[in-house]
Amino acid sequence: MTARIIDGKALAQRVRARIADEVARLTAEHGVRPGLAAVLVGADPASQVYVGMKHRATEAAGMHSRQVELPAETSQADLEALIAELNADDAIDGILVQLPLPDHLDPRPVQELIDPAKDVDALNPYTAGRLAVGDPTFLSCTPYGVLELLADAGVDTVGADIVIVGRSNLVGRPLSNMLTLKGRDATVTLAHSRTRDLASVCRSADVVVAAVGRVGLVTADMVRPGAVVIDVGTNRTDDGKLVGDVDYDAVSQVAGAITPVPGGVGPMTVTMLLQNTLEAARARRGLPRR
Ligand code: NAP
Repeated sequence: MTARIIDGKALAQRVRARIADEVARLTAEHGVRPGLAAVLVGADPASQVYVGMKHRATEAAGMHSRQVELPAETSQADLEALIAELNADDAIDGILVQLPLPDHLDPRPVQELIDPAKDVDALNPYTAGRLAVGDPTFLSCTPYGVLELLADAGVDTVGADIVIVGRSNLVGRPLSNMLTLKGRDATVTLAHSRTRDLASVCRSADVVVAAVGRVGLVTADMVRPGAVVIDVGTNRTDDGKLVGDVDYDAVSQVAGAITPVPGGVGPMTVTMLLQNTLEAARARRGLPRR
């Protein structure tokens, strides 16, 4: 069997075109241009690339993008003061603070300060808690992208056995909460580094999601023939190649469908950030979701 490729790049293009249309309509009908502020502290090269990508995608969708770059030695108090300013700025609908922050800064209080109405990255514990109690506001972008990929690939999650490998607050844990919401109704196993016999746990799944950050973690013998495999991992090999957590060549001979890296989950993460910013702009003005 050769797996069908779930093309995240193509899906991202379609969703971004739809978002751009909705932004144009919102601007024409209500004079509203959604605005996203991205805060970057220091000059971490990977973070600069990510913030740059988000900036370009935001502008391409017709939204207002503000990039705030602060020096690496910025104090906790100054960073928190900036968040308070952005919370009060009516031109800004969404706020994201690019992680990781320099070591002397604590991201937790910063995330907790972001106005929940502007928490488009969904990392404020209030936002995560709303999802955990089954009444979500914003969905964090990477797991939200995974949901969209599954839906577009025609995967019915109702009653499906889904194994997520990795329990971070960024990916695995919120994804498990999203997939177990009423309406999605998956039976989820959230695996991690202490899981016993990961291979047999994964083999029991209709869908395997790998979100670990380890090259070659998911091998062909861990995947049931015909299962769907979503690879969230992004790892750089010694020769600079971007690869996921899944042994793609071997697993694609067994799986029914699979996301590639690059071109799978990655493009959907930025896309769902745009979606959340659009939703924030509508909600902050009392306009219904589309
Ligand atoms: P993280 O915070 O480091 O969490 C990794 C998780 O993997 C932890 O729960 C850890 O378990 C688990 N783990 C580690 N080794 C394991 C093993 N041998 N077997 C089973 N589980 C194991 O990472 P993250 O932030 O969630 O990111 C995960 C990966 O996704 C990274 O490659 C990251 O770059 C990528 N990512 C991609 C996107 C995208 O847009 N494509 C977005 C976000 C993240 P413990 O909890 O027990 O330590």
